[in-house]
Amino acid sequence: MNKDPTKTIPLKPPSAFRNLPQVDELLRRSELSEFIHRFSRPHVLQWIRTAIDSIRSELTSESRASKGDLISAVLDAVRHQADKEALAPMKRVINATGVLLHTNLGRSPLAQAARTRMLETAAYTNVELDLETGKRAKRGQRVCNLLARLCRAEEALVVNNCAAATMLALAATATGKEAIVSRGQLVEIGGGFRLPDVFKASGVRLKEIGTTNRTYLRDYESAIDENTGAILRVHRSNFKQLGFVTEPTIAELAQLKRDPNIPVIDDLGSGYIYDLSFLDVQEPTVRQSVAANPQLTLFSGDKLFGGPQSGIIVGQTKWISRLRAHPMMRAMRIDKVTMAALEATVEIHFAGNAEEQLPLYQSLRTSQGELHSRAARITERLSLPSGSMPPGFSAQVVASDSRVGGGTLPEKSLPSAAIELRHAQPDSLAAQLRRSTPPIQARVTDAHVLLDLRAVAVEELDDLESGITSAISRLAEELKTADG
Ligand SMILES: *Cc1c(COP(=O)(O)O)cnc(C)c1O
Repeated sequence: MNKDPTKTIPLKPPSAFRNLPQVDELLRRSELSEFIHRFSRPHVLQWIRTAIDSIRSELTSESRASKGDLISAVLDAVRHQADKEALAPMKRVINATGVLLHTNLGRSPLAQAARTRMLETAAYTNVELDLETGKRAKRGQRVCNLLARLCRAEEALVVNNCAAATMLALAATATGKEAIVSRGQLVEIGGGFRLPDVFKASGVRLKEIGTTNRTYLRDYESAIDENTGAILRVHRSNFKQLGFVTEPTIAELAQLKRDPNIPVIDDLGSGYIYDLSFLDVQEPTVRQSVAANPQLTLFSGDKLFGGPQSGIIVGQTKWISRLRAHPMMRAMRIDKVTMAALEATVEIHFAGNAEEQLPLYQSLRTSQGELHSRAARITERLSLPSGSMPPGFSAQVVASDSRVGGGTLPEKSLPSAAIELRHAQPDSLAAQLRRSTPPIQARVTDAHVLLDLRAVAVEELDDLESGITSAISRLAEELKTADG
C-alpha cells in the first residue's frame, strides 16, 4: 500500500493534464527539426522537458487549454531557448561602448598577426621543441628572450595574468615572511582582486606602512627587519590620489639600504611600452621601471601592452630563476595559443610597429574629426524605408567621451564621436543590437543608445552599419507583433 497521502489523493484531477503533449511526439515535429540540427537533440530535448514541466506546474483543473494550445506553448518556449542559446557561445563582438579595454569584452583586441598565429599554433606546434636540434626546448624561451630585450631587462617570465604574476612573485620571495606595502597602495583591482587577499593566498604576511595619502622612504627603512621577505610597490592603476600625497619613487625604493635577499617588486599593472605622450599621460613605462632597477617588474599583457591575457614578469636573472623554479609556476603557465599571440604582439612592439599594427593604438590615435566623419557616413546611410522604421526613431551624430578602461588611466577621457539612436525603448533597441551578426555592444542611457566609434576598427564599419540596420528592422517587427 502507498502510505504517502499525496500519491493516493491527486491534488489536481488528471483530466487537466490529458492534453499535455508527449516529448517524443514533439521531437518529431517538423518545426523543431531545424533546432535539432543547429543545437543538437539533447539540447532540444532538455528545452521541451523544461517547457512541459513549467506548463504542468501552471495547469489547474479548470484549464481549458486544448492540445494544440499546449503544443504551441511548448514550441514557443523552445524557440525562446534556441534564441538564447544562439547568443550564448563566445563570438566576435563590435565594441561600440567607447571603452577601449572593456573587461566584459575581453580587454585588448589582438593584432591581425597575433590572430593568425593563434590559428596556426592551434594545431601541433613547437612550443617545447627546438626545430634546429630536434631536442626539447624550454617553453616560451623565445617570447621571454624578446620580452627581456624589449623591456631592457636581464630576463623575463610569462604567466596567466598580472594577478598570477603578483602571487607568484610574493610566494617565491616571501613565503612565511612579510612583504612591506604602503597603505596608499592596498588596492582592489576589480573582479575581486584585493591585495590583502592575494597576500593571504600567497602565504605571505602583509606589513602595512605609512598612511593612505602619505608614505615616506623612512617608513620603509624602519619597517625592514629579519621578517621582511620583499618590498612590493603597486601602481594605482584605477584611481588617482590628489592633494597632500607623497610616496617614494621606484628608484628610491630600489636604492634602499637592505639585505640583498629582499627584492623590490614593482607591480605596474597596465605597463606599457609604446610612447603615450601624445595622450598627455604621465604613467610609468615598463622601461622606466626596469631602469630604476627593482628586482622584478610585473605587468598585464592585455592592458596597454595590447596583447592577450597574460602576466609578464621582467627583472634580474637571480629572481626570475627563483620564480621559474617555484612549484606554483607550473599551475600558472600560459597556454601555447596564448603564447603564440603574445609572441606576435611582442614582435610588433620590438619592430616599432605598435601604432600601425595594434588595434588598440589605432583606436587611440584616431582623431575626433575622423571618428565624426565615420559616424556621419553611417548615419546618412541609415535611412530605411519608412515602413520598416520603428515609430519615434531617429539617428544623429553626437560628440562623445571615450575611455581607455580596463582599470587604466582612470582620469583620461578621449574626445570621440558617436551615433545616437533615439527611441522610446532604448533597452529593446540595445537588445536587438546584441542580436546582430556580429553582435554590437552599445552604451545605453535613459533616453537613447550611443554607438561610440572610438573602439570600432575601420574594418568593422560595414558590419556596424548593417548590424544597426538589421537591429532597427527587428525592433520595428517586434513592436508590430506586440501591437498586433
Ligand atoms: C590590472 C592590475 C593587476 C591585475 O592584472 P590582471 O592581468 O588583470 O590579472 C594587478 N596589479 C595592478 C596594479 C593592475 O593594474
